[in-house]
Amino acid sequence: MSEFQKNQQNNEGANNSLNITAALYWDINCVSISRKIVNGTHSKEDSEIYAQMKNSTDVFISQVMTGCFTALQTNSLSRCTSFINEFGWKLLAICAHSEAFRSAGENLNEADWLSFKNLLAQNQRSVEVFANSRDLEWRGPLLPYASSNLLPGLREALTPDINLAQEHPHHLVQLPDGHLKRPTHRGLAQVNISSSIDYKNPKINLRTPQMRACYLCRSPQTCECRHISMVGDMVELVEHLEKGVTVRALANFRKGEHLGEFSGQIYPESHSYRESVYSLLLNAYDAEARQNLNVGTVFPDQYGNWTRFISHSCEPTARFVNLIVGNEAISDVQAERSISMFEELTVDYGEEYFKTRPIFCRCGTKSCKKPPPSED
Ligand SMILES: [Zn+2]
Ligand SMILES: [Zn+2]
Repeated sequence: MSEFQKNQQNNEGANNSLNITAALYWDINCVSISRKIVNGTHSKEDSEIYAQMKNSTDVFISQVMTGCFTALQTNSLSRCTSFINEFGWKLLAICAHSEAFRSAGENLNEADWLSFKNLLAQNQRSVEVFANSRDLEWRGPLLPYASSNLLPGLREALTPDINLAQEHPHHLVQLPDGHLKRPTHRGLAQVNISSSIDYKNPKINLRTPQMRACYLCRSPQTCECRHISMVGDMVELVEHLEKGVTVRALANFRKGEHLGEFSGQIYPESHSYRESVYSLLLNAYDAEARQNLNVGTVFPDQYGNWTRFISHSCEPTARFVNLIVGNEAISDVQAERSISMFEELTVDYGEEYFKTRPIFCRCGTKSCKKPPPSED
């Protein structure tokens, strides 16, 4: 095999691992949402969907247990037992909820399975925080086996720990050493909100007849549309030593995909008494004036969502766009190019940001406009 062929095969293996890992996070999120829906409603259809998911996990775990108790080992069972030795019961039980994981153990060739496990090893803490903060009930399928003395490490894995699901997932930032912290700004906890809060009533970012049509339904009349995005479920907050809190993708996003509204407290433009590192001007195109007019400023310092933690890059992966949705002018984050699993989400904060601040850019890209002085 030539070097080129080898490289190509390695790349394919790496892509395969990334896609399986993306599917793993997606599956965990789906099972968690499905459980919440079932707990909140009494729909027979929803209950059946969740019961099916739960049953697939239970069957898988019971096969793994058979493998542990008997010498009868298929390839996928021996993979599971070595997986438990490497990663422990907790990660196995979490992954067992994913169809992508169950099928990977059975179908991947040895090289791809190893490359998938390497990627998982680098992201074990992330998967565990993801599952726990979404309240995945991963202990359930293991409980029937808890009394056995023949399964080393199982009881320890089942010991209850801090309940991360009491907090919104975006109230948790993963530190480089694996610990978690609550995001704060000037000593105040940064609270997640699902949509912007106006500093007054009536709203100041209300759509006027001169503004463009609704981005979602194209109606020139006021409509009831709301921008709802699942993307917030598929990102995590990670502390970077130089940049502070950053946002990491836990899925692949398409170029042009609308990732989420930049939410916060909306004030008039004149309200700039605070030196905010997070604020963003909210503009809307006015057909009469034939230009973008300012409709306010979004301050997500204390109340906002995950989009406020997107770092600057001189080669950004996303950008802010002004949109009209329903009866409001909003600022949305849109993917500038396709974004891969585990990539950082970044936007360009604009030249003013660095001109007016005595700081350097830490983006580390080739085209960085204000890099820190080199150390040599
Ligand atoms: Zn609409
Ligand atoms: Zn830069």
